[in-house]
Amino acid sequence: ARETGGGTYRLFNRTLDEQVKRQFELDNDLRQAVARDELRLFAQAYVTPADGIVRGAEALVRWERDGALVSPGEFIPLAERNGAIVPISEWIVENAAKASSAMSDHLGFPVPISVNISAVEFRSTGLLSRLEGIRELYPLAAIEIEVTEGVFAGDMKTAGAYLKTIDEMGFPLAIDDFGTGYSSLSYLRDFPFSKLKIDRSFIVDMVERPRHRDIVAATVALAHHLGLVVTAEGVEDQAQNDLLKAMGVDYIQGYLFHKPAPIELFEDLIRRKRYE
Ligand code: C2E
Ligand code: CA
Ligand code: CA
Ligand code: CA
Repeated sequence: ARETGGGTYRLFNRTLDEQVKRQFELDNDLRQAVARDELRLFAQAYVTPADGIVRGAEALVRWERDGALVSPGEFIPLAERNGAIVPISEWIVENAAKASSAMSDHLGFPVPISVNISAVEFRSTGLLSRLEGIRELYPLAAIEIEVTEGVFAGDMKTAGAYLKTIDEMGFPLAIDDFGTGYSSLSYLRDFPFSKLKIDRSFIVDMVERPRHRDIVAATVALAHHLGLVVTAEGVEDQAQNDLLKAMGVDYIQGYLFHKPAPIELFEDLIRRKRYE
């Protein structure tokens, strides 16, 4: 029994070691990711439910490390802790703007690309000047900014002032993952959001669960009443799409229509699924 126990312990220990080692390696490599040109920008199209026409896309970052793609869910939190988030965020905003600008130029109409700004990035001082730089460098870019309720966790007044400035600079603001945090309806009233994104967790079982369906319907009605457009994220099947369409949701984002793909492919997609 002792031997088994010891063996098990050693096995467990090794696994734990491996985990720690991976974290350590990721941590180190992450600091080099931008310099080594290892970040990749993906884009996931969103569509209008009635016609499936592509209206824009959300930029989603991936990290190509040793031939594998590391998901942002794994490396963004790490980057926030070790400071690598600053160059990474700079890279994402710049490349999203570059892509939106080029596509808008080629197609002759603005192609909106939304960018996720985490609460940590949001509080970092560089954001506003970075956005200002983008305005000058890429005047044709149609960049939208997605933030979560997390940006209100610290100093609410500063957060509000930041949001106001970003909006006044001409970057539309979306409140992301709505309904998952400590949502306060006053955010919608007091800050200049123009879009609300309903979190996937409400969409995933809305067909089976009337309560979730009711929450989605009430959120859509409230958002519209306040003059916001609504995106439903994580839509995977036709039944969800039909319900959301009936509720008057403005945009659908999810595997049912389009999965995230390298942003270089987006111009072609938008040509095929043209605006009307
Ligand atoms: P998010 O902002 O809620 O992004 C949506 C996530 O849902 C994406 O995962 C997307 O691939 C996934 N998704 C979209 N449609 C479906 C669907 O129909 N079914 C399912 N199961 N999933 C779907 P991804 O790309 O892994 O990103 C995860 C999170 O990482 C994002 O959640 C966002 O919070 C963060 N993230 C991604 N890119 C960036 C970035 O450039 N900067 C920052 N700060 N965070 C980012
Ligand atoms: Ca998002
Ligand atoms: Ca989201
Ligand atoms: Ca989400």
